[in-house]
Amino acid sequence: MIERQQVIVIGLGVFGATIATELTRLGHDVLGIDISDQKVDRLAEQITHAVIADVTDAATLEELNAGDYDMAVVAIGRNVEATILATMQLRELGVEKVWAKALTNQHHNILTKLGATRVIGPEFEMGMRVAQELNYLMVNNYISLGNDEFVVEVIVSERLSGTTIGELTESAEISILVVKRDRDISKDPGSSYPLRTGDQLVMSGALSELRKLANHIL
Ligand code: ATP
Ligand code: ATP
Repeated sequence: MIERQQVIVIGLGVFGATIATELTRLGHDVLGIDISDQKVDRLAEQITHAVIADVTDAATLEELNAGDYDMAVVAIGRNVEATILATMQLRELGVEKVWAKALTNQHHNILTKLGATRVIGPEFEMGMRVAQELNYLMVNNYISLGNDEFVVEVIVSERLSGTTIGELTESAEISILVVKRDRDISKDPGSSYPLRTGDQLVMSGALSELRKLANHIL
């Protein structure tokens, strides 16, 4: 396991509660905070510590020694003012990593300016993901590397069977990283390598190049 981290999660709605319980399950030390006693009571058994507190009260985070934590997630959501105050205070107290949930683009910009190390737009990010998956039904999985660069995994369709790696890399500026066939993994397969239906193909490239490739092979 990765080193045990001390994490604060503020706001224990569905989003924050999921983060807090999963991090606890993974062996991290989690302090969950919510203004609602019901939310806190419900989670008390599932996370390391859970406290009822209002983070808009300036003394709260300091009293809880928030500055000693490695990272914090501000998962408050609709209470924009509380999100802003908590993010600012956590940074002032010296928490290195502060991830905050934003509901709108403006909210996202404000939180970035206040020093949030990552701003998450769950609906936005999930929506993008679903749209991209629908757009590329053949894409099995992907990782965004930022700046429109992606690593994607595709399953070779019958139509693509017989195509060589070289033919793929000629049609778009992409790199083929791995081909997995049954249990065999070929790293950096040569250009003459012929693909077969069902092969798992892992490649990387810019979104525009991956689109070019999709248009070429679909
Ligand atoms: P969900 O739909 O995910 O269950 P929700 O609709 O109850 O969430 P959100 O607006 O997403 O609520 O807020 C998340 C949590 O943040 C809530 O549980 C709420 O009680 C908590 N919260 C709101 N304001 C504060 C505050 N000032 N201090 C601490 N927690 C707060
Ligand atoms: P990075 O900051 O890593 O370079 P990016 O610039 O590639 O990211 P964008 O598509 O510009 O990515 O969006 C950055 C983040 O902004 C998204 O992950 C999302 O959380 C948030 N975001 C953007 N627009 C909205 C919106 N309308 N509502 C909510 N969140 C949004």
